[in-house]
Order: sequence, then structure tokens, then C-alpha cells
Amino acid sequence: MSKRVLVIGGVAGGASTAARVRRLDEQAEIIMFEKGPHVSFSNCSLPYHLSGIVEKSEKLLMMDPVQFKKKYNIEARVFHEVVSIQKEEKTITVYDHATKQTIVEAYDHLVLSPGANPIVPKLEGIEQPHVFTVRNVVDIERLQQYVTQENVQNIAVIGGGFIGVEVAENLRLAGKNVSLIEFAPQILAPFDDDMVQILHKELLDKGMQLITNDGLASVEQQTVTLQSGKRVRADAVVLAIGVRPDTTLAEKAGLKIGETGGIAVNQNYVTSDPNIYAVGDAIEVYHQVMRRYTRLALAGPAQKQARAAADHMYGITNRHRGVIGSSSIQVFDYAAATTGINEKVARDLGIPCDSVYVIAPDKVGLMPNSQPLHLKVVFEVPTGRVLGAQAIGKGNADKRIDVIATLISFGGTIEDLKDLELSYSPMYSTAKDVVNMAALVASNVLAGRFEQVHVSEARSLVESGAYILDVREAGEVKNGMLKGAINIPLSELRERLDEIPKDEPVYVHCRSAQRSYNATVALQGAGFTRVKNMSGSYLGICLYEYYRDVTEQREPIMTKYNFK
Ligand SMILES: Cc1cc2nc3c(=O)[nH]c(=O)nc-3n(C[C@H](O)[C@H](O)[C@H](O)COP(=O)(O)OP(=O)(O)OC[C@H]3O[C@@H](n4cnc5c(N)ncnc54)[C@H](O)[C@@H]3O)c2cc1C
Repeated sequence: MSKRVLVIGGVAGGASTAARVRRLDEQAEIIMFEKGPHVSFSNCSLPYHLSGIVEKSEKLLMMDPVQFKKKYNIEARVFHEVVSIQKEEKTITVYDHATKQTIVEAYDHLVLSPGANPIVPKLEGIEQPHVFTVRNVVDIERLQQYVTQENVQNIAVIGGGFIGVEVAENLRLAGKNVSLIEFAPQILAPFDDDMVQILHKELLDKGMQLITNDGLASVEQQTVTLQSGKRVRADAVVLAIGVRPDTTLAEKAGLKIGETGGIAVNQNYVTSDPNIYAVGDAIEVYHQVMRRYTRLALAGPAQKQARAAADHMYGITNRHRGVIGSSSIQVFDYAAATTGINEKVARDLGIPCDSVYVIAPDKVGLMPNSQPLHLKVVFEVPTGRVLGAQAIGKGNADKRIDVIATLISFGGTIEDLKDLELSYSPMYSTAKDVVNMAALVASNVLAGRFEQVHVSEARSLVESGAYILDVREAGEVKNGMLKGAINIPLSELRERLDEIPKDEPVYVHCRSAQRSYNATVALQGAGFTRVKNMSGSYLGICLYEYYRDVTEQREPIMTKYNFK
């Protein structure tokens, strides 16, 4: 007898499961229930409708119920909300919003992919019609229509996570005055404080108001009031403070909920009931690097879980590696991407670790559009196991992160990354790609061949009057220097060693820490024992300092910024 597979949720996880079941079993009866009007739309592309990059909202819809029936013989029932699961009887109760009727359907296998709901805090004024969330096509159409019809110019986006930043960016690209408000000291939590400052600066450069360390307190007609008491003009408000896994049905049915609040599943995405699977944003997942359960609201993992769940129904086994959490985002002119865990998370978890921050050209310097690529790699000490990486640049930051993501998936170390043989053409990369370069620096750090200080330490060094040696050439230092630094160009260093003190630490920098590394080892070779290379160097330090200097009206530690 053919199987009857019912799927709750018709988008990333739901539609993928249904399609895979069909490919495995031509005879199965597959019904997908979706409470909204659309199935199979591109959630991830929603923000791009606000700028017109995706001009028509219909383009966001990838398939409709008619196509599902014709192409896959899958019945996709929209406006059908599953209201309860009777797991003992293996049935679900469904409310049809169109006919207002309730029906009961029986299943052999049930798949839950209800996703996650945007969090809406209970605050004064939050219920007003000019307050929006962004989860589906209906939401983005409503927001877009409101902004257009009411000729809204001032918009506050609350929450600097991936969705908040993308929504804010696209509204800014549409010419709106956008204030992005984030409760934490930084946007985009997967990035460390040192890396994310590059993106903070980019938001300011593109005319956005970025407010960090402040949360929403209330919403008024034309303003929002923040917890600090500050008021920000806003004729429309977008809430993007995070999502909560939709576990309503699962909880009502008595399915086990995990420690992080997502539906608990085993390695085959089977819930605590053997006939019910769950995938996507609603579940909790095992993190390969952290070695613990977490939640990960990303489309790629949802689709892979969907396939694995369908496979399991048909006895096909899949290796379960756990997730590592790789993501990428465009922030105006920059591509930014991360994989694994960042240094803050690693330290919070008590994993002994270190990191390197390398700035290198993303392609051969003399090629058109060669741009600096900022790459941070976090690794375990002393094993060298790569824990995570973050890349930001105007070129292919995501490509570099994908390379490292692959390495992390296979449990790779700094030594593996150093030796990784990657493709090279001057137009696309350098013979020793920036990921190899970062691994070389990390392997030197790990072996104790030199010591480094991070960009976050530069301010205290300048303020405490430490001996900072700038080895850039004279022409470069005219465009800005760290206050109090001594300039001895690398090309003159060996003749001027007697000017450098031996009885105190010497902190060496150049523009991007490459020449300063050469200077550091040259000094070590000449008998200096307390030399440290300043990672990130002048470019990295300028980028790191800028946002807080501007927003906190801080005294800069450099005579002039230089972002080139
Ligand atoms: C604006 C935005 C941008 C994003 N950008 C990215 C990105 O760039 N990269 C990335 O990896 N991820 C991104 N994501 C996340 C990604 O879209 C999700 O991780 C993915 O869609 C999760 O799939 P899912 O099937 O679990 O949930 P969803 O795709 O949300 O689908 C769940 C569906 O279930 C339906 N449903 C819920 N309860 C019921 C019920 N009781 N009965 C019937 N139907 C029900 C819902 O209406 C919903 O349509 C983005 C998400 C958003 C909102």
C-alpha cells in the first residue's frame, strides 16, 4: 500500500521534503498544508523587493499549488492551517480558512516544518498599523505598499541581525532615511567586535543612522522612543529582533521540546514520536564545533534536513555531521560571511583559542578591482583545529568562507588550511590565497615564532605611551600615523636598529601587517626579544576605531584616518 505523507508548512523545509518524497516514491500520496496564501517562496530574497532589486513581488514566488500538482503530483493546500496533531490516531486536524471548515486527515508519516515567528515584544504602541515584521511575501508587500502609499521617508528598523540589516539596507537603497537600532554593542552577532566595525562604518558611509547599545521602548505616531530616552523619527517601524521557533503544534501534541526551545529531533530528524519528523527553523540542531545543541534559522540547513528526513522514511541513511552555521550577507559595497564560531563564542565556551586577522588583496594587486579582503580565522590552541572564520571585502568574501567552512566540516586544522591547494588566476585570487595566508600566520603564532597584538589593543597601547614602531615608508605616514608612533621604514630598519629600545616592548605595524611581520622577525633576528606585530596594522586599526570615535565623540588615536 502506498504511503500517505502529510507536510505542515509549504516553504523551505516543507516543500523540499515533499519534493524529495515524490522523487523517492511515485506512488506516495503527498499533501502539503500551508496556512498562508503562498507555498515555495524565496524568504531570503524578500528584503530585495524594498529596493526594487526584485521589482515585482510575484517574482518571489517560485512555484504555486497548480505547478506542484502538475510537476510533482503533490497536493499543496494553501490557507489550510493545521490546528492539532493526534499522534495516537496518526491524524491531524486542519482548518480551511477559505471554506471555514475543519477536516481531519490521516498520515503514515507527518513532517513538521512550521518555521519560526518574528519576536514581537509587548511594548507601548507596538500594535499600530505602521509597525511591521518581515517573514513572508504578504508581509513584504504590506510594508512596501505602506511605504509607497503613505510616502514614508523615515523608517526605524529595530534589530541588527541579518534580516534587520538587509531590510535597512534595501530601504536605504530606495532612498529612505533609515535608522537601524540594535540593543547589543554591535550588529550581526556572528562577527566579532573587531571585524564588524568595518560594517558599522559602511552603514554610516552610506548615510544610515546606526544606533547601538540601545533598545526600543515604545512606538509613537512619528517617532520611536528608545530605552535611553532618545527619540528617533519614524513614520514606519520594522521589527527584526529575532525569531522564535514555532513549536505550538508540537507542544500541544506532547512532542519533546529541546533545551534550546526548538523541537527535539534525533539524527534522522525524527521527533519523540517515531511517525513524526521535524525540520527547519522550528527544530534544534547539534553544532559540530560547539558540541552542543543550538538553533539555526538558515535556509540551507532546512533544505538538507528536509532531504534527510524524506530519505529516512525510505530507509536511506544519511551521515549526520551536525551544523557549523555558515552565512553571508551583502552590506552595501561589502560582502561579509562567517562560518563556525567566532572568538567571543569560543572564549565564552571556555575553548582555549587564538585568532589571526589578515588583510590581503582578494586578487593580484595590479588587476582591475583588486580590493583588500579582511579575514579573521579562529583556532583552538594547541591543536590548531579551525573553529571559525569571518571575511569582509568588496570581492569574494563568501568564497573564502566557503573554503574554510568545508575545512571545518571535515575537522581540519590550521596546518590543513595552510596546505590547501586552491585554484588561482590573477583575476580571481592570489597564488597564495588569503585563506592560505591566514593559516600561515596562524601556524607561526601557534608555533610561537612571533607574538602579535590585536587591533582592539591599539588604543590602550597608544594611550599608555607604548613604543610603537611604524615601518611604512615616509610617503605613507604623511596620510596619518598612530599618535606617538616612531616611523622607521622597513627599507631603513637594518641601518637604524640602534634607535630602537631593547629594554621595553616594541609594537610594530605597517599598513596591513605584512611588512611589520617581516620587521618583527628581522628585529627578533637582531636580538630584540620583546617585539610584537600589530595585526590588522594601520588599515585595520583605522577601521576598528572609526565607528566608536564618531558615535562616542572619542579622541582618535591617529593623526588622520586612512582607509586605503
Ligand atoms: C527576510 C528573511 C531573509 C532571510 N535570509 C536568509 C538568507 O539570506 N540565508 C539563509 O540561509 N536564510 C535566510 N532566511 C531564513 C530562511 O528563510 C529560513 O531558515 C527557512 O525558510 C526555514 O525554513 P522552514 O521551512 O523551517 O520555515 P519557513 O520557510 O518559514 O516555512 C514555514 C511555513 O510554515 C507555515 N506554517 C506554520 N504553521 C503552520 C500550520 N500550523 N499550518 C500550516 N502551515 C503552517 C508558515 O506559514 C510558513 O509559510 C531568511 C528569512 C527571512 C524571513
